[in-house]
Amino acid sequence: MLSLAALPLGVRCVVLEPDPLAPARLCAEHLRAAYTDAAGLERLAACDAVTLEFENVPVEATAALEGRVPLRPSPAVLHLSKHRAREKAALAAAGARVAPYAVIEYAGELAAALSRVGGVGILKTSELGYDGKGQARVSSLDDSRAAWERLGGVSCVLEGLVPFVREVSLGVARGPDGSLAFGPLAQNVHRDGILRRSVFPAASSAATHGRARALAAAVAHAWDLTGLMTLEFFELSSGELIVNELAPRVHNSGHLTQDGGGVSQFEAAVRAALGLPLADFEPLLPCGMVNILGWQEGREPDWDAIDRIPGTRRHLYHKASRPGRKVGHVNVVGSSIDEVLSRMDAVEALLDG
Ligand code: ATP
Ligand code: MG
Repeated sequence: MLSLAALPLGVRCVVLEPDPLAPARLCAEHLRAAYTDAAGLERLAACDAVTLEFENVPVEATAALEGRVPLRPSPAVLHLSKHRAREKAALAAAGARVAPYAVIEYAGELAAALSRVGGVGILKTSELGYDGKGQARVSSLDDSRAAWERLGGVSCVLEGLVPFVREVSLGVARGPDGSLAFGPLAQNVHRDGILRRSVFPAASSAATHGRARALAAAVAHAWDLTGLMTLEFFELSSGELIVNELAPRVHNSGHLTQDGGGVSQFEAAVRAALGLPLADFEPLLPCGMVNILGWQEGREPDWDAIDRIPGTRRHLYHKASRPGRKVGHVNVVGSSIDEVLSRMDAVEALLDG
């Protein structure tokens, strides 16, 4: 999707990705090699800038590029955001509130951690979690010991449960000159730990929207971001925001910017990476997105029925369908939020079969 957004700007992408079925092979020059492949990295070093849509690239790969080509976001931002405990500390240092948490390196630390977060919490691996993987809800010491074993006994954080009224997210792009542009405050609904749908505008107040932008700006400046990142927030009933986590890249909740009118998050990311002028990438129309998850054999969704709903556009990733895997999304636009929501309900019903 980044490569597709780059094309109209006169920009072509080179993608280093070991998966032979990488979706980008269809619209970019695909270097099918390990992230640490010397020839592949050489080719990337010859580009105008390098960015990522996957933050778990090995440090050796980014280290090999550093100083040779602008890396946006920088290795320093990636270092902070790929590790939950480091990320939380750096968010707090930038003035953002985070959930109560404790770092777990040894089983012996679980008891104190559990009482610190109020006896109930979510144990999350510090690295490599996504779509709710690498997490477990715990409500007793026995629970948390078993969960920590199941998670592999690796470095974790135990987070207190946040009583949020809604989840929202916001993208921010920052250019090499420090200029900022903001994406939409999208409202997100998860199902089974996986993002189900995002809607813009969120039901949050204007004051909360302003807070989200101020926090994103504060973190972008404090971390000296160049490129695009997305903050996930828990909104409390008071309208206060707690930062859940940060993605140093375009985000699933920003996919709705492809069809709501205006600049998409993908174009914003390309512009920020290349130092092109930035503009806010908030959609011009109410819009939403429903994720398409891989289906069971013989249960492919009725695409024709989805296409017939006005205001919908399908985005398929050309990935093999596996149950639970994100293989595409449907964007929905409408002239009012109610119209968007009823169209999204219809799409969701068709996707659920
Ligand atoms: P993703 O890849 O979808 O961003 P992830 O695996 O990185 O997910 P998180 O964002 O940490 O995981 O958590 C996934 C979801 O679980 C959150 O969006 C939220 O719905 C719920 N959740 C996580 N942490 C908490 C918490 N401390 N309190 C309440 N709910 C939480
Ligand atoms: Mg998340």
